[in-house]
Amino acid sequence: MKINEYVLEIKKRFMAEYGEAECSLNYENPLELLIATQLATQCTDARVNIVMKDLVKKYKTCEDYANADLQELMDDIHSTGFYRNKAKNIIGTCKILLEEYNGEVPSDMDALTRLPGVGRKIANLMRGDVFGIPGIVVDTHCTRLSARMGLTKEKEQTKIEKDLVKKIPKDYQTLFCHQLVEHGRKYCKAPTPKCEECCINDICKKRDVKTARTTKTEKAK
Ligand code: SF4
Repeated sequence: MKINEYVLEIKKRFMAEYGEAECSLNYENPLELLIATQLATQCTDARVNIVMKDLVKKYKTCEDYANADLQELMDDIHSTGFYRNKAKNIIGTCKILLEEYNGEVPSDMDALTRLPGVGRKIANLMRGDVFGIPGIVVDTHCTRLSARMGLTKEKEQTKIEKDLVKKIPKDYQTLFCHQLVEHGRKYCKAPTPKCEECCINDICKKRDVKTARTTKTEKAK
């Protein structure tokens, strides 16, 4: 099966299984998603959703975060881990948004990745979910599954992204990444995938299944 046929077959089956899968972080506006994605580093989305529930009641605007007391914000986000860096990054991000973007979240890749704590993974998620701009979100699920499914041989995040951007149709990229998260949680788990129950098990390349590395975060997700 050629790569484009393989991808289209995966899409057909994922659409039947997961449909219009969405981001599992809860948010009401672009700023909330940006804060949530920063908190989600090395933390489960479920934990972030719990923390965000209280956070959005206390910090309603970009100004609220930019002017936050560092220690107080650290306490507020403590349970997401790495709270010192995350609090510093959130305050730094919101100061830049206020000074340079009138308090709005920009859609430009360079502008997003200049924000503290924002790499291409977060930037692509923001661009896809908020602005409808196609892109591949190379998170832990995308890295593990795209290797197992034989969609890439690359190991580095930026190379995986470049490779998948070429292989996944533009208008399917954002949805595909959300479906990968669902598929990774349901069947293609780390460290042991449930291949016998998987909806693409007759076409999957099943590469790297035995050697897939598993991090603590992956286990928790
Ligand atoms: S067949 Fe196995 S390795 Fe392939 S996608 Fe399904 S669960 Fe993952």
